Amino acid sequence: MVTRSALIYLSRQEGLKEFATRFRPFKKLTTRFVAGETIDEAVAAIQELNAEGCSASFDHLNESVANSAEAEAEIKEYLQILNRIDETGIDSNVSIKLTQFGLELDPELAYRNSRAVVEDAARRENFVRVDMEGSNVTQLTIDIFKRLRAEFGLDDVGIVLQSYLRRTYADAQELVKLPARIRICKGAYNEPPEVAFPDKKDVDENYVRVMQLLLSSGIYHGIATHDPKMIEGWRKDRPTSGSS
Ligand SMILES: Cc1cc2nc3c(=O)[nH]c(=O)nc-3n(C[C@H](O)[C@H](O)[C@H](O)COP(=O)(O)OP(=O)(O)OC[C@H]3O[C@@H](n4cnc5c(N)ncnc54)[C@H](O)[C@@H]3O)c2cc1C
Repeated sequence: MVTRSALIYLSRQEGLKEFATRFRPFKKLTTRFVAGETIDEAVAAIQELNAEGCSASFDHLNESVANSAEAEAEIKEYLQILNRIDETGIDSNVSIKLTQFGLELDPELAYRNSRAVVEDAARRENFVRVDMEGSNVTQLTIDIFKRLRAEFGLDDVGIVLQSYLRRTYADAQELVKLPARIRICKGAYNEPPEVAFPDKKDVDENYVRVMQLLLSSGIYHGIATHDPKMIEGWRKDRPTSGSS
């Protein structure tokens, strides 16, 4: 099975990325996770989702750029995506990864680059979700998000937290007070037991705990999971929902 972590790894390997999108058996597996290789393919996939009553988050899969020129190219890509969302009228926001905008090169660069995208999205009354990545950048990601949130509105920019991290409940409590829109997910990176719960049971319990905190906050949050048990349990408990 191709896991999200495998895709994350692939998204960092230029040569492998090319292989993964061309090699037919692999491509078949990745279509479960990747809506398309071009903006138009992704737009078509989102149109299908919208027709089924689902809104979407447009995520250009790429991480850990090697230089500022690559980070610059990512900004252009996202500005194009935001423009295409408006042109086509699809119901979609965008998700970004700060390492895609240069976080590991220079946090200030990542701040400036992500700011450019959030500013454009805010002008278009769209919304930018800052994805959460490996624990080596959790604090940096939260710090940049807070700067963006101080400058832009609740409905302009949001963040992701991962229930496998031991720190997450405290982060959720703090961020909800800003207030901030949070997407809770379980987490997709390989983390050591000092920072993340090694047992799925604890990850799931923390997920439910954070979800309950979010749902009682009165803010429109995102509840992200593929877990059928979690989705069914949550449907029974709460009839209203957020997405992405
Ligand atoms: C909208 C969205 C946004 C996300 N954003 C982030 C992010 O910013 N950062 C981050 O680290 N991770 C992110 N993730 C990934 C997430 O952290 C998990 O790695 C991933 O969703 C698997 O966890 P789970 O909650 O689905 O349940 P798991 O506990 O992994 O799986 C439980 C069960 O769910 C089912 N299942 C799991 N995955 C799939 C699948 N792909 N298709 C069908 N059934 C499946 C299986 O039956 C499995 O046994 C995101 C996921 C989603 C859906």
